[in-house]
Amino acid sequence: MAAPDKNRMMDFSLPPDLESLRLRLSAFVEAHLLPLEQERANYDAYENIRLDVLMPLREKAKAAGLWAPQMPKARGGLGLSMTGRAVFYEEANRSIFGPLAFNCAAPDDGNMNVLNTVLKTEAQKDKWLQPIIDGHVRSSFVMTEPHPGSGSDPGGMMLTRAEKRGGKYVVHGRKWFISGADGAAHFILVARTSDDPRNGLSAFLFHKDQPGWKILRRVPTMGPDELGGTCELEFDGLEIPEENRLMEEGDGLRLTQIRLGPARLTHCMRWLGLSKRCLEIAHAYVKQRKAVGSTLAERESVQIMLGEVAAEIAKGRLLTMHAAWKLDRGEKAQKEISMAKIHVADTLNRAADVGVQLLGARGYSKDTVLEWIYRYARCAKLVDGASEVHKMVLARSLAKEGNDFWRWG
Ligand SMILES: Cc1cc2nc3c(=O)[nH]c(=O)nc-3n(C[C@H](O)[C@H](O)[C@H](O)COP(=O)(O)OP(=O)(O)OC[C@H]3O[C@@H](n4cnc5c(N)ncnc54)[C@H](O)[C@@H]3O)c2cc1C
Repeated sequence: MAAPDKNRMMDFSLPPDLESLRLRLSAFVEAHLLPLEQERANYDAYENIRLDVLMPLREKAKAAGLWAPQMPKARGGLGLSMTGRAVFYEEANRSIFGPLAFNCAAPDDGNMNVLNTVLKTEAQKDKWLQPIIDGHVRSSFVMTEPHPGSGSDPGGMMLTRAEKRGGKYVVHGRKWFISGADGAAHFILVARTSDDPRNGLSAFLFHKDQPGWKILRRVPTMGPDELGGTCELEFDGLEIPEENRLMEEGDGLRLTQIRLGPARLTHCMRWLGLSKRCLEIAHAYVKQRKAVGSTLAERESVQIMLGEVAAEIAKGRLLTMHAAWKLDRGEKAQKEISMAKIHVADTLNRAADVGVQLLGARGYSKDTVLEWIYRYARCAKLVDGASEVHKMVLARSLAKEGNDFWRWG
C-alpha cells in the first residue's frame, strides 16, 4: 500500500457516491423544478409554491431517492453528514423551490435535526419526528417575541411563561415571526420556567389541536413568504404535559443552541445555491445582450462584478464546509458557523443585487426569479441571529482565545 502523502493534508474532491447523488439531484432540479418556477400559476398568494403543486413534486423526489437528506436512512432519509448536506443543499437550492421539494427547507429542516438529537425514545420519535420526515405534517420553532420580549437576547428577555402546575406546564405569552405556523401541526416552544439567568428557559412540544393558543395573524412581510408565513401567536393557558418537555427543565437555551447552530449552517448551504443561481442567470444574459458594439460579457466592468461575486461564493463555500467538517467531528463550531453566516448572508444579498443590476429592467421584472431572491435575501442578515450578534460572538471568542482563535484543526 502506498504511504500516505504527508503534503496532502486537505482533499476537496467529493467521494464518488456523493458526486453521483449530486448529479442525480442536479438533473432532477433541471427537469422538474426550474420549469415550475417560470409559471406564475404555480405560486400561492404569498409567492411560494402552491401546496397542490408541491405535493406531487415531493412524491417524485421520494421516488427518485432524493428525500430528507439530513435524516437517518432507517427513518427514510439519506443519512448525509453535514459536509454531505453542504453539497446536497447547495445543489437543491439552485431552484427556489428545491428545499421544500426535498424536505430540507427551514424550519422543518432544523426542527427535524433537533428532534432527532434530543428525543430520547423511538416512540417519541415515531410520534413527533416521523410525520415531519414523511412530509405528512409541517413544524414550527416558536421563540421570538414582539417588543418588549425576546429577540436577539432570548435568555435575558423572554416573557412567555410556562408555569408548572402538577404534572403539566401552563403557558401564557405572545410570540411572533414564527415561520410556517399557519399550517404546521408540530410546534417546538421555548418559554420561561424560572428567572435563573442561565437556566431560566425550557423547551416543549405541542400539537396544533391542543387548546389554549391561537394564531393572531400572519405578519405581512416584504416577502416572499415562507410556506405557512411568519405568524404572531398568543398563548392563553396552553397546557403541556411534563412528558412533552424537551430535555430537562432549564435546558431551553441549550436546546436552542443545538437547533440553531446546524440550522444557521444549512441556511448558508442553501443560500450558496441561490447565490450561484443569481450568477447563472446574470451570466446567461450578459453573454447574449449587446450594448455599444459588444456583448455585456466582454465589458471589463461587468466581468469585475461577476468575478467578485464568484470569489465571495467560493469563500462562503470554504467557510461553510469548514464549519460542517467541525460539526461532523462533534465540535460545536460556534465561531466557524458565525463567520459562515455573516459572510454568506452578505454574499447572497450581493449576488442578487448584481444579478438584478446586470439584467437591467428584466432584472426588476418577475420574468426571472432574481427579484424573488433579491427580496428573500434581505432576511438572511436577520434570521437565526442578526449579523451584528454573530460579529459580537466572534469578537468575544477573539478576546477569550487570543492567538488560539487561529489554531488549525
Ligand atoms: C423571515 C423571518 C423568519 C423568522 N422565523 C423565525 C422562527 O421561525 N422562529 C423564531 O422564533 N423566530 C423567527 N424569526 C425571528 C428572528 O430569529 C429574529 O428576527 C432575530 O433573532 C432578531 O431578533 P429581533 O428581530 O427581535 O431583533 P432585535 O433583537 O430587536 O435586534 C434588532 C437589530 O439590532 C441589532 N442588534 C441586536 N443585538 C445586537 C447586539 N448584541 N450588538 C449589536 N447589534 C445588535 C441588529 O442589527 C438587529 O437586527 C424570523 C425572522 C424573520 C425575519
